[in-house]
Amino acid sequence: MNCAEKYTEIRQQLPENVTLLAVSKTKPVEDIMSLYNIGCRDFGENKVQEMTQKYSELPKDIRWHQIGHLQTNKIKYIIPFVYMIHSIDSLKLAVEVNKQAAKHNRVVDCLFELKVANEETKSGFDIEELKQLLSEGILNELTNIRFCGVMGMATNTNDASEIRKEFLSVKSVFDYIKENYAGEVGECFTQISMGMSGDYQIAVECGSTIVRIGSTIFGERDYSRPL
Ligand SMILES: *Cc1c(COP(=O)(O)O)cnc(C)c1O
Repeated sequence: MNCAEKYTEIRQQLPENVTLLAVSKTKPVEDIMSLYNIGCRDFGENKVQEMTQKYSELPKDIRWHQIGHLQTNKIKYIIPFVYMIHSIDSLKLAVEVNKQAAKHNRVVDCLFELKVANEETKSGFDIEELKQLLSEGILNELTNIRFCGVMGMATNTNDASEIRKEFLSVKSVFDYIKENYAGEVGECFTQISMGMSGDYQIAVECGSTIVRIGSTIFGERDYSRPL
């Protein structure tokens, strides 16, 4: 099966209200175009330089999602065009994104990345720290960011019950914020970005609204290939 057929197959398995974000990191623009040509508009990248390069070469109605850890000094390159930043993992990053968005006269859609996996390598907000920031009202001052929901990554494991537990914890933080901080985050707080190639079915069962799928659509990534 080619990537367009794979995309269609997965799209058909998903509930209609779930966004299928095609994670195109390391993949050539030709692959992106074959999905674009069958109607896909949402693509995820984790490297600023790669996203910026692809943005410049591809149709302008593509919605580019930043899904990987973002360094503050690189925000400015994607701010003019990025559709959604899934990886807001600290107050410092939120403050910088807000500042750059203000410079470009934009309100940028962002998600809080939550640390739920029991792996040291995964980034994200500590849940208590995020609740603290919300209760202090600090995020209200970031008027050039629209917080639209949460993002989470489960531990890389075959233990489905562990994965389910972590996704349910993302969902419960989402519900908690929606119930307790409706005034701060507002009507647009609707998105739960969770689920990748290996665990998206579980994520959907746990309430995901955006699944981020790379290798199942495009095949294994080859990091040695020059862009
Ligand atoms: C690479 C990546 C994905 C996609 O991973 P696959 O296992 O290839 O589907 C999803 N989310 C993030 C944050 C990623 O970096």
